[in-house]
Amino acid sequence: MKITSIASGSSGNSICVTNEKEGFLIDAGISKKRIEEGLKVADIAPENLKGILITHEHSDHIKGLGVFLRKYKTPVYATGKTIKYILSSSSVGKVDTDLFFEIGPDKEFKLGEFGIRPFRVSHDAVDPVAYRFSENDKAAAVVTDLGYYDDYIVDNLKGLDAVLLESNHDVNMLQTGPYPYHLKQRIWGNKGHLSNETAGRLLDTIAGERLKNVILGHLSNENNYPELAFEAVRNEVNAGIGQYCANDFNLVVARRDMPSDTIDV
Ligand SMILES: [Zn+2]
Ligand SMILES: [Zn+2]
Repeated sequence: MKITSIASGSSGNSICVTNEKEGFLIDAGISKKRIEEGLKVADIAPENLKGILITHEHSDHIKGLGVFLRKYKTPVYATGKTIKYILSSSSVGKVDTDLFFEIGPDKEFKLGEFGIRPFRVSHDAVDPVAYRFSENDKAAAVVTDLGYYDDYIVDNLKGLDAVLLESNHDVNMLQTGPYPYHLKQRIWGNKGHLSNETAGRLLDTIAGERLKNVILGHLSNENNYPELAFEAVRNEVNAGIGQYCANDFNLVVARRDMPSDTIDV
């Protein structure tokens, strides 16, 4: 299994997961053209995508969905409420409703050779989920857009070989930055986004024997820097009570505006 972050950040998200013959996308929040370019980097033809898993309806996750679907007719998987919202909003335009398949939190399903498990996250969307997935004996997850984590989230992230984890903002930059107060409150609230420090603490909790690759993603353009996220997360893991330290896994920061190096899981 390979993971390529085509784009990850508060201005657009699309993550590609592949094996030798097929793959899927998580979210389509960038233009069709940029997804196509990313699929080349991930070394998969668009026709070999088994599906697009949607986490939630915010535009940084579905911006390119309509145009992509009109060309490639890829099946889309999302929760019922998210599908309803997407189909009733004008942003995706006219799409074939037969391409949409309802999935539910905690209900595992197969997508080609991949096993997929959606799980609930706390975020200000109609019915947001994150995804854990597996192929052969490897397991990974993409978890972004969540205000906090609890035992349920930790349970869903145990025993992973790789994870793409949200490290959205530096708390000080957010506090002193230019955002209006209500927006700041939204971001650091329970239905907002994980800070670098919280991401580090979560990582300290889920680090295990198998975890070898960690990608930090969904960084804010205004309230974070890749170097800051990298250092803050390392510090939290090293200061944490878990028995693993930051050198026990490969840690990278996903690029916001272009594909990152493919991770071999
Ligand atoms: Zn987002
Ligand atoms: Zn969101």
